[in-house]
Amino acid sequence: MKQTNVRQFFTQFPNDEACLEHLFNVRFGQGHECPKCEREAKWYRLTNEQAYSCQWCGHHIHPMVGSIFEKSRTPLQLWFYAIFLFTTSKHGVSGKELQRQLGVTYKTAWRMAKLIREHMAAVDGDAPLGGAGEVVEVDETFVGGKTTGMDWRKRKTVVMGMVERGGDAILQVVPDQTRWSLVPEIIEHVKPGSEVHTDELRAYQKALPVTDYTHETVNHGKGEYATPDGTSTNQIESFFNHLKKSIAGTHTSVSPKYLERYVKEFEYRFNRRMRPETMLDELLSRFPELDA
Ligand SMILES: [Zn+2]
Repeated sequence: MKQTNVRQFFTQFPNDEACLEHLFNVRFGQGHECPKCEREAKWYRLTNEQAYSCQWCGHHIHPMVGSIFEKSRTPLQLWFYAIFLFTTSKHGVSGKELQRQLGVTYKTAWRMAKLIREHMAAVDGDAPLGGAGEVVEVDETFVGGKTTGMDWRKRKTVVMGMVERGGDAILQVVPDQTRWSLVPEIIEHVKPGSEVHTDELRAYQKALPVTDYTHETVNHGKGEYATPDGTSTNQIESFFNHLKKSIAGTHTSVSPKYLERYVKEFEYRFNRRMRPETMLDELLSRFPELDA
């Protein structure tokens, strides 16, 4: 399976009507039980509003209500196309880029990008990583701000990453590199029984519950990147490299306040790196934020 290309996209979604019908079908569909009269119903498209009507009692269903598309005057097809761009990009989509591609104002583009990132995070979820016999690599990196002058670390944001070897990742923005910031994230996101690989950062030493995790370290200070027994943090480090290059290249800089959303966008794509062709359909079919 290959990823949808732009021609296939416009064949599937030639206009706003096709997009609305898609939303109705994935969220409700013909035969959907009417919430008002509680009968299985045929649903008729209303001509004067973006809604469908129950054949029995005339109750209306608005497919966009509750989704990221609600309360937007931007045509639905542009929304879908924006999501398409997020799934085909390797380095993320900036507000400026969306503005250019969609012909909307910067304010609109920025809001769309924000909501699409939140949607990606909601669809991805944060199911715990690892388990008995699984290796989870854990590391931190600094994102944003210049790496020069005194106290440069204080002007950067710490991103913590956890990657199950050959599996999913979870990225979190954390306040600092102390054990009080890092260890609770591991306990929350890594299943007991996992083998946790980190560098020798002292925050982890003696702070990880030994009853729950086996802890192995590589000594980066001594130029060690993998030990003979296979301990390494190479996967999380290469993901961090990609993240930092992409943020610097696509967005120039991201304020700490918004960084969480950006890293979740990269986490979403990383977790689908083996099956990128599923992203578009998934993002246009699943709306977990509606159940929240
Ligand atoms: Zn009804």
